[in-house]
Amino acid sequence: MRRAEVGMGWKLGFALLFFALSAAASDRGADGKFDVRTSSHFVLHQDVDIDESGGFHGSRRFEQQVLATLEAAYESLDRLLGLRPERKLDVVVYDPAIFDQQFGGLFRFQAAGFYAGIIRVRGASELSIQLQRVLHHELVHAALDAAAPSLVLPAWINEGGAEWFEARAALGARGLSGREWAALRHWAASGSLFSLSQLSVPAFSRMGAQNAQIAYVQSHALIDFLVRNGGERTLPRFYGELIRSRDVERALKRVYRLDLRKLEAQFFDQFR
Ligand SMILES: [Zn+2]
Repeated sequence: MRRAEVGMGWKLGFALLFFALSAAASDRGADGKFDVRTSSHFVLHQDVDIDESGGFHGSRRFEQQVLATLEAAYESLDRLLGLRPERKLDVVVYDPAIFDQQFGGLFRFQAAGFYAGIIRVRGASELSIQLQRVLHHELVHAALDAAAPSLVLPAWINEGGAEWFEARAALGARGLSGREWAALRHWAASGSLFSLSQLSVPAFSRMGAQNAQIAYVQSHALIDFLVRNGGERTLPRFYGELIRSRDVERALKRVYRLDLRKLEAQFFDQFR
């Protein structure tokens, strides 16, 4: 899941808590009807309350832009993570008010989107960079689930990968921002960073706001650490090995010649 950006601009998401929701959540849109539009790899259901149906700012244009973003993200996903879901993925873009009304009470934070068999995102009246980031983020969760439906990944790999991909593909960023590094150094100095085993829970959904913020940034930083050590081209091998072996230690060893203890030690050494 992806939290809406507020305050300092940090983002949080919870991927796994919401699997139970997919059946319970009924699709009621702003006008009760979802526009459905398909592309090569996606089925988009859209109900943002956009007045015009056509024209430059109309809903049709918006839907085409969302699908174009998703298709570009799909190509990036294949290139950067080696994930290429076979079946078409359903993406529901809700009117923000409807999204908050349906799902807001279920979360501790304002949600920007979540994956629960279907990608569900809080829409906007235009394709903002924030919306593009959420689409990229949730696509990683959907693709990992499609590749290994019964595999419960450690949250640092699932959320870290989604955060890394979102920054890399939607923003073109290489590595974390200066602000994220500053925050990590601050948390390291105050002893607030988590151990790898604490980050290996299935999801960060039970954490409070501050801890979840740390967990997401640290997970992103862990994936970034692997990329800086092995190069970007190792990530598809790492995720591929994970999906095949379903064994984190084995995948780490094969691709990065690391075990969890070494990874943790070297990660923390960065802040000494
Ligand atoms: Zn997430």
